[in-house]
Amino acid sequence: MALSKRRKTPPSPAHPPKFHGGGHKATTCAEPPSGCTLCPRLTEFRAANHRAEPTWFNAPVPSFGDPAGRLLIVGLAPGLRGANRTGRPFTGDYAGDLLYQTLLEFGFARGRYGAATDDGLELTDCMITNAVRCVPPENKPTPAEITACRPFLAGRIAAQPRLAVLLALGRIAHDQTLAALGRRKAAYAFAHGAKHDIGDGLILADSFHCSRYNTNTGRLTTDMFRAVFAGIRTHIDG
Ligand code: SF4
Repeated sequence: MALSKRRKTPPSPAHPPKFHGGGHKATTCAEPPSGCTLCPRLTEFRAANHRAEPTWFNAPVPSFGDPAGRLLIVGLAPGLRGANRTGRPFTGDYAGDLLYQTLLEFGFARGRYGAATDDGLELTDCMITNAVRCVPPENKPTPAEITACRPFLAGRIAAQPRLAVLLALGRIAHDQTLAALGRRKAAYAFAHGAKHDIGDGLILADSFHCSRYNTNTGRLTTDMFRAVFAGIRTHIDG
């Protein structure tokens, strides 16, 4: 199927997040407030983590990367000892080792990945975010929490004016991205390596999540992950 390369107009999120605090005009939010309390269970989990590990980030993890990026990577949620500890998506755990190594290889990052926020790494033409911004117990957000955080993904998408490719890492990120854009899930089945033309000049690419579990079990190999990025690179450069 021929896929259009450039979006002519910004995407139209299904429900752009709006805040009305302080008497200011409502604005679309690409990032949640640092004290977001929309999910009671996750708010309590953050507080418990703060009590146990007061030097950790323990807050909604903001997106990281290039606001003019044509690629937006959507993960699931911060890892407890990864992004929740360091405050940067995929930073400090195994999934980040594979993701950032691959981004460097395919020219979506420059510098050196040092598993810490002060490593100087920069993303090029790429932004990374998560479907759920707060760490969930056992890496499992509830459906209500996924829904609650969706407006921030919609806002992130709306804030990327040159967006061409969304890469969903796993089925939850895939479904959340479609819902954030108001697309029907039934029309775009998740499959590793799939590239869906979802209209407005946008491609939704799918990959199994680059978690330690998936790589240890052989569900996702380094070569499989590299092939996904090779396809994205070709599409963006084409
Ligand atoms: S997961 Fe999202 S909506 Fe829920 S508390 Fe965290 S930032 Fe707010």
